[in-house]
Amino acid sequence: MKTSRSWHSLKGSVYHDNDHCETVLLMQARNFKTGTGGKPLCRNCASLTAAGFAKVIDDPDCIPIRQSV
Ligand SMILES: [Zn+2]
Repeated sequence: MKTSRSWHSLKGSVYHDNDHCETVLLMQARNFKTGTGGKPLCRNCASLTAAGFAKVIDDPDCIPIRQSV
């Protein structure tokens, strides 16, 4: 069973849980936080998951953004 993972941006109003969500590409590393932050789920993530895209990559070393630091 895959472990569900979620993340959010400090500046965002929603959290994400789907690696295919393109919002991740726009998120700056310094604003990245794991967990839901008590925010509602991103609608894009919800629709991606509903459309059958894999929710998360089941790899503990793989995070949704590429940190350059
Ligand atoms: Zn999202």
